[in-house]
Amino acid sequence: MGIFNKIFKSYSEREVQRVMPLVEKINSLEEEISKLSDIELSNKTKEFKDRLQNGETLDDILTEAFAVMREASKRVLGMRHFDVQLIGGIILHQGRIAEMKTGEGKTLVATLPAYLNALSGNGVHVVTVNDYLATRDSEWMGKVYKFLGLTVGLVISGMKPEEKQKAYSADITYGTNNEFGFDYLRDNMVIYKNQAVQRGLNFAIVDEIDSILIDEARTPLIISGKAAASSEMYTKADDFVKKLTPKIIVEEDVKDIDQAEDNEKYDYIVDLKAKSASLTAKGIDKAEKTFNLENLDDLDNSDLVHHINQALRAHGIMKKDIDYIVKGGEVLIVDEFTGRIMYGRRYNNGLHQAIEAKERVRIADESKTLATITFQNYFRMYSKLSGMTGTAMTEEAEFQEIYKLDVITIPTNKPMIREDSNDVIYKNEKAKFNAIVEEIKKSHEKGQPVLVGTISIENSEKISSILKKEGIPHQVLNAKFHEREAAIIAQAGKYGAVTISTNMAGRGTDIILGGNSEYLARQEMKKKAYSDELIEQANAYNETDDQEVLEARNIFRDLEKKFDEEIKEEKEKVIKAGGLKIIGTERHESRRIDNQLRGRSGRQGDVGESKFFIGLDDNLMKIFGGDVITNIYDKIGADEDMPIEAKMLSSAVENAQKRVEGRNFSIRKNVLQYDDVMNTQREIIYGQRRDVLDGKNLKESILKMIEPVATEVVSSFFGTEENENINKESLAQEIKNNFGISDIEALKEEKLNQVDIINEVVEKSKQKYEEKEQELGEQEIRELERVVMLKVVDQKWMDHIDAMDDLKEGIGLRAYGQKDPVAQYRIEGFDMFDAMVAEIQKDVVKILLNIQKAGELKREQTAKITSVAQATLDSINVVTENKEQVPQTSDVKRTPVVNQGPKVGRNDPCPCGSGKKYKNCCGK
Ligand code: ADP
Repeated sequence: MGIFNKIFKSYSEREVQRVMPLVEKINSLEEEISKLSDIELSNKTKEFKDRLQNGETLDDILTEAFAVMREASKRVLGMRHFDVQLIGGIILHQGRIAEMKTGEGKTLVATLPAYLNALSGNGVHVVTVNDYLATRDSEWMGKVYKFLGLTVGLVISGMKPEEKQKAYSADITYGTNNEFGFDYLRDNMVIYKNQAVQRGLNFAIVDEIDSILIDEARTPLIISGKAAASSEMYTKADDFVKKLTPKIIVEEDVKDIDQAEDNEKYDYIVDLKAKSASLTAKGIDKAEKTFNLENLDDLDNSDLVHHINQALRAHGIMKKDIDYIVKGGEVLIVDEFTGRIMYGRRYNNGLHQAIEAKERVRIADESKTLATITFQNYFRMYSKLSGMTGTAMTEEAEFQEIYKLDVITIPTNKPMIREDSNDVIYKNEKAKFNAIVEEIKKSHEKGQPVLVGTISIENSEKISSILKKEGIPHQVLNAKFHEREAAIIAQAGKYGAVTISTNMAGRGTDIILGGNSEYLARQEMKKKAYSDELIEQANAYNETDDQEVLEARNIFRDLEKKFDEEIKEEKEKVIKAGGLKIIGTERHESRRIDNQLRGRSGRQGDVGESKFFIGLDDNLMKIFGGDVITNIYDKIGADEDMPIEAKMLSSAVENAQKRVEGRNFSIRKNVLQYDDVMNTQREIIYGQRRDVLDGKNLKESILKMIEPVATEVVSSFFGTEENENINKESLAQEIKNNFGISDIEALKEEKLNQVDIINEVVEKSKQKYEEKEQELGEQEIRELERVVMLKVVDQKWMDHIDAMDDLKEGIGLRAYGQKDPVAQYRIEGFDMFDAMVAEIQKDVVKILLNIQKAGELKREQTAKITSVAQATLDSINVVTENKEQVPQTSDVKRTPVVNQGPKVGRNDPCPCGSGKKYKNCCGK
């Protein structure tokens, strides 16, 4: 490697060199721009916008815009972007990933491309990992943007839609990945356009991009809710249908049909061949009496009609032990061709629930997934995507393959002088922990601050208890309280400090050698009895004319200055002691996470050290260590406190990590492959919804639906071969039900002609539609079309998502031999989608052609959102291509953040914390 590196420059080095001329240009503009007055400087924004209007591109104005931003930052924040920060900014603008080490000032880097791209007026999203950082960065950096005449918004959870709309309409919007993603999903569930909060996805700068696009990529965002119609409806419909008298037609009965008689004698007619079941006039009458209705056909009753129809099918057509079986309180479908049980597959459109009601088993899906998306698919929607992190290179291939994102390593501002030791290995955990505590003691005695990184809360606590016994004062962080922990981690560089932290705790906060004056000032303010709120305001970056706040702010600033002076001495002492020492207590399964831990030391050219301690009984070693580790184990022999420190070992560990990384990549790819199937479908449905919300005239598309629906309805009565024994009456009834028309001439022929019937139905339906339009008024029917479309599409889509979810779970359970489960999921998924589209068309046509009066034209939310959560790791059904079981070496489990909804739905995460769906766990 070494030789090649010297002769050939790395890809990153070449790319960095390519942008150097731009950096030089920006530097050369500095003198001139620094002469501008504040007003002249901020007027540049307007000038740039005009130039873009007149045809210049963002690339044309890049150097000037960056120079202006740098100057503004100098004046407003007192920070002048380093050259390497300019390089980083250019890489981000190019839609790539800038790998910049901890402490290089990524927050400030983002201002450059954010400012430049915001000039286009299409919005820029700056994405952070938690609300605390989004708030901090938007206020802090917001000062510069505002100085330059741009608006800044912040979206955090719990904000009102109006506040969010305002934040999204700002030039630059800060927020978390979760909130951006959830807002996207929610926007596609609104029923009026003005309820949506986002305005398109233009350019995203993702801070800690590896954390968001890699670590969280296995857990999609899920919005769940309760269907407006509950399971109660199924039971009611079932109770009603149970008491009815059916007439069941099998092929041979065809000749003795007399509709008038049927209408008198029977409540509903079942045609087994056409697999249809519908109420007769008598049945309709009974329904109206039972449910106390004036007219069952009213749009308002369409939900009930739907439930009754499914109950009719459940009773009339679906046969237990032929079409389905009941096992363990569940209704399971039997494949009609193979007789195999189709685990996980559910009849859609409520038929499954209707059968569950019929069989008196628990009716599923009180809670349904209303919308879901993976971060991969959310972020791929941005016209341009970019990101920054201290650690991306190890996942370069994944960024390239999944996101088409390049990773470019940006040189550090000052040379890195941290000393990274080889790993040391111990026979077991006990010996390892003893050695770690000894090492901590050694550093602590000379005043060197120590940061101990663990990969689990449990280990943090173990070490903490040993330290307590040894009388070494320390802090423990578990990534629970972002804000407080950020403050503590900021102090981790103090003389003699010992901090134990899981790897997520305080990420994004800098550890400054000698300590953090801001934190000290805060403590001092507390001693002086300032309220927490006032201290917050004093420390905030926002503008205010509140006298009290301004006064507090002055005191705060003075204190910070004073502590800065004191810290200077502290810092000298810490540097003498060797800078911040990082102790890793275990290798994480990903090298990236280890690199992040190391990266907390040695920022901006500081001295520092890092060292990892490994036990042969660490999970990673046990599962992936392989022969090398076993050999070492033998060498250690009896003396367990004897460590081994070897270069060979480090590479064995790294190989183990690479293996896990490879596996994790395939898991993420697998999750994505599943979501890609949904994604295609999601885009079609969301696109149609948007058309409706945009007020598009739907008449054409609705008229176009008539033909396929007519074809489906009519042809279900004809077999594949010519058939003279068509049940005319029941066909006529079916046509009446669906299209609201009778008197089909073609039905009077001796020998029925399928095509003639279809054509006539289509013709007459269109005619009828025109008449309806005359009758109801053009405007009314246009809105009516939208109401019906939204209602039907939302309902069917919601059921479909659930059905797809079940399909995904079930596909893993089916034994498919050599078949690739994803391919199978794709095929069946698209069949189900096609079936759903056909159902949508059928319902839309039926409702619109049968509507009597315009009624109250009201759009309604089909379902209520009950919770907004990120999935837990285990609830995702992962089947890798090679069917290998993938061990989970990390014990970090995410528990879902559930906003509301006290009741646990069957598809909700189980409250016991297992991470499984409730129905598969305690709800079994
Ligand atoms: P990172 O996210 O890259 O670890 P931060 O954005 O948290 O780094 O910045 C680290 C520290 O460096 C912050 O305190 C910031 O104020 C400071 N900083 C960044 N850039 C500059 C600069 N150009 N001049 C002075 N200080 C800077």
